Amino acid sequence: MKDFDYLVIGSGIAGLVYAIESSKHGSVAIISKKSLYDCNTDYAQGGIAAVLDSHDTFEAHIQDTYVAGAELGKKEIIRQIISEGPNLIKYLIEMGTDFTRRDENYDRSLENLSLTREGGHSQKRVAYAADSTGHQIMEALISNCKSNSNITIFENHMAVDLITQHHIIQSDGFIPGITCWGAYVLNTISNQVEIYRAKKTMLATGGASCIYSHNTNSEIATGDGMAMARLAGARLANMEFVQFHPTAFYHADGETFLISEALRGEGANLLLQDGSAFMESYHPMGNLAPRDIVSQAIDAELKKRGDKYCYLDATSVDQEVLKTHFPYIDKKCTEYGIDFTKEPIPVAPAAHYFCGGILSTIDGITDIRNLFAAGEVACTGLHGANRLASNSLLEALVIAYHAGNHSSNLGEVTFPAIPEWRDQGQFNENEWVVISHNREIIGTIMQGYVGIRRSRRLLKYALSRIENIFNEINNFYQHNTVRKEVVETRNMAVIATMVIRSALSRKESRGAHFVIDHPHKDDAKYKIDTII
Ligand SMILES: Cc1cc2nc3c(=O)[nH]c(=O)nc-3n(C[C@H](O)[C@H](O)[C@H](O)COP(=O)(O)OP(=O)(O)OC[C@H]3O[C@@H](n4cnc5c(N)ncnc54)[C@H](O)[C@@H]3O)c2cc1C
Repeated sequence: MKDFDYLVIGSGIAGLVYAIESSKHGSVAIISKKSLYDCNTDYAQGGIAAVLDSHDTFEAHIQDTYVAGAELGKKEIIRQIISEGPNLIKYLIEMGTDFTRRDENYDRSLENLSLTREGGHSQKRVAYAADSTGHQIMEALISNCKSNSNITIFENHMAVDLITQHHIIQSDGFIPGITCWGAYVLNTISNQVEIYRAKKTMLATGGASCIYSHNTNSEIATGDGMAMARLAGARLANMEFVQFHPTAFYHADGETFLISEALRGEGANLLLQDGSAFMESYHPMGNLAPRDIVSQAIDAELKKRGDKYCYLDATSVDQEVLKTHFPYIDKKCTEYGIDFTKEPIPVAPAAHYFCGGILSTIDGITDIRNLFAAGEVACTGLHGANRLASNSLLEALVIAYHAGNHSSNLGEVTFPAIPEWRDQGQFNENEWVVISHNREIIGTIMQGYVGIRRSRRLLKYALSRIENIFNEINNFYQHNTVRKEVVETRNMAVIATMVIRSALSRKESRGAHFVIDHPHKDDAKYKIDTII
């Protein structure tokens, strides 16, 4: 058994910030499913939103967030998170994040940050580090964690299950309510499971977009934290709101990477394959409309024509800006033989971000005692039905910082006797070869039946198929020694079921959830969170 004050599951921005803050109060273990850098934070290109310009106001950022979220966000939560943006960007700079500056000869103050504008934002308010903002943030935070003697890092370690009452043999007078005392953790190299006991556990496991076959995410995003919390008895909220990024690179072999919204912010245009523009007829903000509108517009136009992709044309943008501001996109396009300064980029929407997640407060507190959640795994009420671009890094940062400094992150804990992990028999390779195909099938079902434009009939078909897959995979999980792929596939089935159930329960269209049977918003009945 390993024993720490704090167990941090996940090494993206949320996990690392919480680890740094908690290390001021005790010993911290960070476990990460692959290497520290394998996470969505490292993929983030566009930037992080905050009110940093003298022409901008908190009210404007709050309003943009609320409108993008189709008026489902919680105004008070939005206000709290946004008002802490500037201070916490300063915190990232102090940690060593090298944001792009207005004038490289000047200091690293907030006033000297170069800002860009993204879809749904009424002002330039996105701080960035060229087009690899997430990577810059990761470098700074990882270097702080590595030099911190209170923090121990375990790469290739995967949380399999939270340790709560359902693992403990109950005795009379045992603590009521659900409490978390750490997690069972699989070393994915040795395939051994060990108890990681902790007074406080932070779930910072990120999102679940890998349940869709076409997605922009790191392969770690299989919804493990959401599934573990759900299976332990926590509530999840707003799981139907899966945001599709409108402009993922399209290639016939399925390879994809994100083409940042910031490119449209600089003036790139969406065009059909015949070269005609179409966004103006969908929204007054045209190419800079909120993401759900742009994804739905592209989806509708592609379906109308039977096309697989449209174009993002950046050829009118200054070449110098393209080369200096978007080196990652430049490099990736060049790999596929495209010079984006001279020709349009083929793009199509792909699953990108989970607006829903574990129901949690501004301090990361969940339904389960001593269990926190922060980042994409959580649902705080900031995003409502659709996330405003670049608000997710901000949310992860604010909530993780809050959680690390909250009074409930302190205090002693009485531990029960924790049983060793049950290890069931052998690993049946022959059966797994067959069952492992379910992972691909989940992706195909979700992409085809539970995508941008949904119908109740297809949602019901999808539910019965995914439930069968869950039963199959869960049965295998119960009767074999544990492996990463098995746990991930089971978690993906759990999360896919939650997305479909939530989508079926919302009989209206709002934000990232569009269902053709109920194409309009119904504020009277559905201006509420979907809680399961
Ligand atoms: C291509 C792309 C571009 C983006 N661009 C932007 C942007 O410009 N601005 C913005 O605000 N947002 C952006 N986002 C969204 C944003 O990056 C994420 O929402 C955010 O980084 C999530 O941070 P996180 O810490 O919650 O999770 P992540 O950074 O995804 O980290 C999750 C961590 O949990 C670990 N993990 C998962 N399961 C387990 C397990 N069972 N056991 C142990 N460890 C586990 C993973 O290994 C990983 O370390 C982008 C996302 C993508 C995919």
